[in-house]
Amino acid sequence: MSNEFICLHCRHVWKARVAEYGDWKRRKCPNCGKRNTVEKDFYDKAVEEFANSLRTSPPPHPPTKPAISATYRLLVKMFPDSSPVKVLLDINKAARKRVRESASKQNQD
Ligand SMILES: [Zn+2]
Repeated sequence: MSNEFICLHCRHVWKARVAEYGDWKRRKCPNCGKRNTVEKDFYDKAVEEFANSLRTSPPPHPPTKPAISATYRLLVKMFPDSSPVKVLLDINKAARKRVRESASKQNQD
C-alpha cells in the first residue's frame, strides 16, 4: 500500500510505501533531499483544522482543540524522536499519570 507524502520545504508531493518511509531519519524528499516530509493526509488534516479555527473562533482566532490535536499528531508523525516532540509526549504522559493519581486518591476518600 502506498500513501502520498509531502515535503514541507519544497511542496513536492509523491507516493511511497509507508513501510519505506516509517523511519523519519532516513526519509528524504526525492525532489530537494530535505527531511521535512510527512504523509500528506496528516498535513492536510492539520491545515483543515486550523482553517476551521480561523473561521469559527473569534479574534484573535486561537486554535481550536481539533486544530491543536491535528498539529500534535502531525509533529509526532514527522519527527517522533525530536526533542520538541519528546517534550510533548512527556507532558502527555505526566498529565495522564496525574489524572490517574487524583482519580485513585478520590476513590480512597
Ligand atoms: Zn522537498
